Amino acid sequence: MSNHTNAFGSVLSGAINASRKDHRPDDILDSEGFRCCPVCGERKETVMDEADPNIPAFLKGRKLGVPCACARQQEAEREAEKERRRVRDRIAELTERGITDRKYLDCRFENDERPDSDVSVFCRYFVDEWDHMKETGRGVLFYGSVGTGKTFHACCIANELIERRQVPVLVTSFAAIVNLPIEQREWFMGEIARCPLAVIDDLDAERKTEFVTEQVFRAVDARYRAKLPTIFTTNLDITAMKEEPATEFRRIYDRILGMCPVRLPVIGESRRQKNAEDDVKDERARFAAYRAEQRQLPAVQ
Ligand SMILES: [Zn+2]
Repeated sequence: MSNHTNAFGSVLSGAINASRKDHRPDDILDSEGFRCCPVCGERKETVMDEADPNIPAFLKGRKLGVPCACARQQEAEREAEKERRRVRDRIAELTERGITDRKYLDCRFENDERPDSDVSVFCRYFVDEWDHMKETGRGVLFYGSVGTGKTFHACCIANELIERRQVPVLVTSFAAIVNLPIEQREWFMGEIARCPLAVIDDLDAERKTEFVTEQVFRAVDARYRAKLPTIFTTNLDITAMKEEPATEFRRIYDRILGMCPVRLPVIGESRRQKNAEDDVKDERARFAAYRAEQRQLPAVQ
């Protein structure tokens, strides 16, 4: 007998032995003497095909355990649970690695105050059409003044793609990267150069030194050449980027505009400013009420 047949035989014997653990005392035998499941009624045994030339002679006619419908369903449920656990662990790992600033975890579509705005609809489109974005390497530039929700929208995309598609994402800013110790910075630059999606927040907040500008160019250029989609947020406006006089910034902006065919102004009223204005109104009303109450008191003698 060849080694191949031996190996084949041992696999089959394993299956026969393994099947014994599925035997139950209330199994029933059908008219041909096969063990059947008392629940679904299916046979739990089969016999090797006598005519099959691949079956070694010593196994011909022997009974082999096979899973009944209940056993197949249990196995499918175990597999599904294993898969759910795998996805859950993967999401936790990607979130931990990609969204290091915990405050961005709340940037979720369900917390969007204006889900009908162009920006919000575009964010959902970006997630739904991720395969197209990945294929073409197309990114988006969210621009507008401080506090309008640019970062919120960019992070909504990041969180949703991690959860729905388990896409590795890196949310960062150049200001954060250049402040890292050198080994960490190099590691981060490596991640930026290959992460399938990067969110680079607050571009231009880091215009400081020649060294920083060089790092920014390195990172942007690496993603540009690798055709990896990138989401940028910035307080700069597009005209300023296009008309930038300094060559070292101009070459960065040219790359970014090339990488981001979609440039969306985020013009919603400032979230921070709105809160401040609400506070002003609230304090005014409280003070007016207090003053009115004071006037009703008898004058101090
Ligand atoms: Zn069964």
